[in-house]
Amino acid sequence: MGLLISTNPARNFEVLGQVPVSPLTEIQEKISLARNAFHSWKELGIDKRIVLLKPIFQEFQNNKEMLAKNMALEIGKPIVECRKGVETGLKYFNDFLDNGAAYLQDETKKIEGTIHHISFEPFGVAAVISPWNFPFGSFIWGVIPNLIAGNTVVFKHSEECPLYGEILEKLMKKGNLPKGVFSEIYGDATQGAQLLQGDITLIWFTGSTRAGQAIYQIAAGKFVKVLMELGGSNPAIVFEDADIGKAVPKLVASRFTNAGQFCDAAKRLIVHESRFDELVEKLAVSIQEIRLGDPLDEKTTMGSLVAKRQVKLLESQVKDAIQKGAKIVTGGKKPGNLKGAYFEPTILVNIKPTMRVWKEEVFGPVLPIVSFKTETEAIRLANDTEYGLGAEIYTANPETAKRVAGQIDAGFIEINQANHWHASNPFGGFKKSGMGRELGKYGFQELCQIKLISE
Ligand code: NAD
Repeated sequence: MGLLISTNPARNFEVLGQVPVSPLTEIQEKISLARNAFHSWKELGIDKRIVLLKPIFQEFQNNKEMLAKNMALEIGKPIVECRKGVETGLKYFNDFLDNGAAYLQDETKKIEGTIHHISFEPFGVAAVISPWNFPFGSFIWGVIPNLIAGNTVVFKHSEECPLYGEILEKLMKKGNLPKGVFSEIYGDATQGAQLLQGDITLIWFTGSTRAGQAIYQIAAGKFVKVLMELGGSNPAIVFEDADIGKAVPKLVASRFTNAGQFCDAAKRLIVHESRFDELVEKLAVSIQEIRLGDPLDEKTTMGSLVAKRQVKLLESQVKDAIQKGAKIVTGGKKPGNLKGAYFEPTILVNIKPTMRVWKEEVFGPVLPIVSFKTETEAIRLANDTEYGLGAEIYTANPETAKRVAGQIDAGFIEINQANHWHASNPFGGFKKSGMGRELGKYGFQELCQIKLISE
């Protein structure tokens, strides 16, 4: 049997533990248990399902610090950010418990003398597959709404955080859900594909666009619905009239939180030529305050990347930019004094559209900055990507903000702010950033078949 070896990327890859890879027979058995559990889970009704999920919320609540600490150890994220990640995940869980029933409320209307009822029925067995970058939050976003909606779940976490997956499974077990309602498997893309090839009815996937495209092919062959939250390369546009003092900390947080490993990060900065030098200089100064170091040190504000392969990918993207004429304003390399998957916060200018840092998703602390002359040019640059997750617009003029927001091809646009999500708002992308929506009534309804009965 294969093993997933878990290492600490921020402490020179010291081994943290190992988890057995789930064999195909176990994956099939868990799917079969989920299928057997489905009918009675559905028939319980949403209110009783919510009651049964409350002890799980309590288990997570009681283990907040442990959940944060183990996250820091396995993925290299600073403990302060990990605590925030667990708190935010719990906030979403709480919203789902409080509002899930309202999100899936039946609708009744009268049309030309007949009564029409619209109701939301679960699909069946949902295969839920998550990435590592928000290992608590993405688990909560994927698993809890599916269970509330009445789907049973077979879950697979990322191979980068198998020990975290085990912790989540243990806490879920303490909640004593009926057998088969939730189970977990372990492995990488191979086991993920085996899960999806099994007798499942719905796919909920968060991860890279590359994997999403492979998964879409599997879904097409089986003819099952797939919901996908994929990569992003969000533009942030800074107009001539923007309040640069207020924009700088938001841009730094947006690009450098979680060492830049954030689907929704501002990954391409587009600045009016009249403010370019000023903004680049202020960002460079602000970045000096980032404390790169061990994630368990309370003063650390940036830890390591998740793995060696992420550092190698980032180095190759930065090297490509330099070879094509980009200039490093700050950073651009691994720090000399830290052993592990570290990379310095980096700003690049003299960016060309052919550079990989512009064309590809950059999943690390590197910010390419370009200038623009006209609003039309800013919009063209913002849309010059195969992704369409989000965008940020910084301007003092609400009319400019509204006009530009209407022309950017992305699922959520933030004006003079960044990363302000809410559990009741739809989350998801245009273009290759995904398909369907999570959260709120739009997200919950995606997890259901919609049935109309008229009389
Ligand atoms: P990844 O695609 O490599 O892996 C994600 C998960 O999918 C893992 O559990 C992996 O084992 C599994 N997987 C990979 N290939 C598969 C296949 N062919 N079949 C079945 N399962 C497969 O992504 P990652 O490196 O873990 O995460 C980073 C990516 O996730 C980035 O692109 C980031 O933007 C994206 N992401 C998106 C969102 C969002 O909400 N849009 C949120 C977080 C992360």
